[in-house]
Amino acid sequence: MPGIRFADIAAVRPTKDSLTSEYRAIAAALDRGERAAALADWDRVRRRFDTWSALVGLRFAQNTADEAAKAERDYADALSPEASDLEIALKRRLLAERGPVAALTGEHAVRLWEIDVTTFDPTIKPDLEEEARISSQYTELLAAAKLEIGGTTVNLAGLGPYSEDPNRSVRHEAERMRWQYFKAHAAELDRIYDELVKLRHGMARKLGFQTYTELGYRRMRRVDYGPDDVARYRQQIVTGVVPVVARLLEVRRVENGWDTLRYWDEALIDPAGNPKPAGGHDELLDAAAAMFDGMHPGLAAFYRQMRDGGFMDLKNRPGKAGGGFCTSFSTEGVPFIFANFNGTHHDIGVFTHEMGHAFQNWESRHQPGIDYLWPTMEAAEIDSMGLEFLSYPGIGKLVGEDAADRFRRTHLIGALAFLPYGACVDHFQHEVYANPDATPAARHAMWAKLEQLYMPWTDYGDLDFPRKGGRWQAKAHIYGSPFYYIDYPLAQCCAMQFWVRSRRNYPEAMDAYTALCAKGGSASFLDLVCSAGLVSPFADGALADVVQEAASFLGV
Ligand code: ZN
Repeated sequence: MPGIRFADIAAVRPTKDSLTSEYRAIAAALDRGERAAALADWDRVRRRFDTWSALVGLRFAQNTADEAAKAERDYADALSPEASDLEIALKRRLLAERGPVAALTGEHAVRLWEIDVTTFDPTIKPDLEEEARISSQYTELLAAAKLEIGGTTVNLAGLGPYSEDPNRSVRHEAERMRWQYFKAHAAELDRIYDELVKLRHGMARKLGFQTYTELGYRRMRRVDYGPDDVARYRQQIVTGVVPVVARLLEVRRVENGWDTLRYWDEALIDPAGNPKPAGGHDELLDAAAAMFDGMHPGLAAFYRQMRDGGFMDLKNRPGKAGGGFCTSFSTEGVPFIFANFNGTHHDIGVFTHEMGHAFQNWESRHQPGIDYLWPTMEAAEIDSMGLEFLSYPGIGKLVGEDAADRFRRTHLIGALAFLPYGACVDHFQHEVYANPDATPAARHAMWAKLEQLYMPWTDYGDLDFPRKGGRWQAKAHIYGSPFYYIDYPLAQCCAMQFWVRSRRNYPEAMDAYTALCAKGGSASFLDLVCSAGLVSPFADGALADVVQEAASFLGV
């Protein structure tokens, strides 16, 4: 990476014909018995396609209103199923020679392909293109929000500071503006999701599955656990975390002297006002260099390369897609991080989170094939959420030394409060895909009922749109990445174990973390967890142990 700049990353635009001829050449090499050469060629082909797709996706996210970027994204969405078709056909062929192939690629890659081939058939190509097309309508709809507050116009990310303003009426106004936008687009949001659910259910049926749930798990490449394990984990959250969060909220209610705690009070975690970044974007990035210096030499050097090479786009601007993510250019082995800084403590959480993903991707760049550059998402989230916790000792550099303790408390409370919400988002999707014919109104009722189980404290007051079960419509993963959400609560249990270890022996925890990052996706979730000396979140008591440690740290 030294010397590489984002501006120099380039990719040739593939076509269906160019891909077809590349795959034909690989097949010909296999015909000649040149297995190792064919696999190496295929890896190069996949990396080129991957870098091109990543660039297209990133450019669209950087400006969703850019017509050229949008047209290229549409082109990529149309080409992607054709690429899958070629890729899956080759995986099928390689699986017929499983033993000798696994000797070259490693067993885990072959295990992943065995799952992949069950998720695709040429008959679903138009459905996949349609799924991408409808999903992006959601992204564009949310990115287009223009909300008037405090005499200025902001997008949804720009609402963040108002949502956690120490002044209660400002917080209320922010939530009123947010949900007014969703209410104004309720019919379209329902239409988009309804089409996605029916489309996904239809694909599952064409592939021979009963419902989308099984296909959804396979698309997430989950090889070592299923919906029953996940349901048990959610139950651990209900019994072990919901009461702790309820106690924390009650403490907050009393501290602030509120008669009841409303929905718009939930984001004000610290009664003195949530700690904020000690400076703007540039100051934060300078301070981060000093923080990483104190954590790990490899991480520090890597961060400087990311920054100097322009591999970060973290400022919020009009038209930018919401949220934060890390993408990568596998031809060069370098990652890129994307966020929407809005001046709140979330900037720090998002920054350390995405840096965790990026560091993992960088550390695992020497893994032998593209399948091993990223782990499956629940394991990837250990690397990202883990870095959020491992940044605690030096976090004063980012928030100011006098606010460091308050930031750690705020972050930890946020981490605990997230678990029930994350479980609710996951449970909701299981219900949705088990009942694909449910009406939009029935889906809102499902959500409202689940909220009673996971977040019984939530009081929406006069915000009637979320009060009637509409809150889930603000969660992009529900639309664009089905079943990718329990990954966060699963990873949180593991990331918090790193926190516990780091409090006892920081260098040991940091070394174990870095070693886990370097393993990339070379093993399954539970194998990676085990290799890092972590307890599986599915094990009885694993979650209770870390939650107990957090509760006593917080004094509840
Ligand atoms: Zn993440």
